[in-house]
Amino acid sequence: MASFPVLVLNSGSSSIKFCIYDAGDGQRDKLFEGAVDGIGTDLGKFWMKDRDGKKIVDETPSLPNRAVAFSLVSDALHSGKFPAPAAIGHRTVCGGPGISENQIITPELVDEIESYAALAPLHTPIAVYIMRQALKLFPGVPNFAVLDTYFHRTMSELVKAMPIPAEFVAMGVRRYGYHGISYESIIHQLQPDVPQKLIVAHLGNGASITAIRDGKCVDTSMGLTPTGGIISGTRTGDIDPGVVLFMLNKIAETGVSAKQAADKLETLVSKKSGLLGVSELSNDMRDLRDAIKDGNAKARLAVDKFVWTLQKWIGGFVAELGGLDMLVFTGGIGENDIASRAEICTGLEALGIKLDAAHNNVRGEATISAEDSLVTVRVIPPAEDLMIVNHVMRLLTEQPAPAKLEAQIA
Ligand code: AMP
Repeated sequence: MASFPVLVLNSGSSSIKFCIYDAGDGQRDKLFEGAVDGIGTDLGKFWMKDRDGKKIVDETPSLPNRAVAFSLVSDALHSGKFPAPAAIGHRTVCGGPGISENQIITPELVDEIESYAALAPLHTPIAVYIMRQALKLFPGVPNFAVLDTYFHRTMSELVKAMPIPAEFVAMGVRRYGYHGISYESIIHQLQPDVPQKLIVAHLGNGASITAIRDGKCVDTSMGLTPTGGIISGTRTGDIDPGVVLFMLNKIAETGVSAKQAADKLETLVSKKSGLLGVSELSNDMRDLRDAIKDGNAKARLAVDKFVWTLQKWIGGFVAELGGLDMLVFTGGIGENDIASRAEICTGLEALGIKLDAAHNNVRGEATISAEDSLVTVRVIPPAEDLMIVNHVMRLLTEQPAPAKLEAQIA
């Protein structure tokens, strides 16, 4: 069987996740995975697991910056212990208005993605750094950008448009939507029986929810940036623009420059708000659940706000879809927080959603609706890495690939 190793690089604001799949002859065999986490701290983590889930690297390095973090990944990949990648897929949160298709990465494309870093400020700076490093460190290996916005390209103009002056629309200000690779992976896993009217809630540290008709995105909660939509770990979600202006004016009163004020505001709405801001405790659902057990009222309010926002979005999406066949929970909270799923679904009986408490008492993949629920409710973990590999393999067959590679690609 021909081997065709595809490296997947997925960077967050303080982490780099990576894995290699063998995608030769149509197989999708994950050979290993790893991550460097805690970039910007002295207490970083660097781990790798083999295909059986056995830890083969487990270190706690100091990670002062992304260069040190990526050098650990690169050194491991060049150590000779692992197959050299024949192609590389980069999770790319947003490419800006001109880049709506997944595609091969050129230096010019990286420059363009970087010029729209303001649309995904937590993700794009580290992603473009890694793209440039990968182009340099793996010469001759094709690199591909796989976009989180790609799945949402089917939203109508009505849904994409922002009610703002045209001059800003011309600058690319519109609703893009995020977590698209996760949503695509849910559709992929539901095939061939993709329900006609589907809502998927991706509830992780970043959280969003998407309405899907016949496998295509109709609407999603996140907008121009991943800060919009529902309240999540450290992000506000949608709020009255007057709140942002109020905060900006308060910051401006401290005499800082316009750029410093904008950066401070960005930090407030993206890193200090959401579950963390309301609870004044943590952005982590596990901490909040523990605190609720101890009677912490702010933690309770934060989680109630999260649940309430989701219920409102689900109700709106059911109206938009004209009904609902299936609701899917995914992401760290969606897969693991039994209480959040129960709280979100309680009160949605009028929409045909009814959970079975015993079926819901699980972590990981399951059908959790009651027998007599009109809507099927499921938990399905996302498979984002696999989706990225699938896109890379599709693009390689569509793009002129080097002849020696063509023979190996199924
Ligand atoms: P993600 O960004 O998808 O990794 O999800 C991170 C979120 O999932 C955090 O808020 C975690 O608290 C939450 N989470 C992970 N495991 C659990 C669990 N066992 N119970 C409740 N929440 C969890």
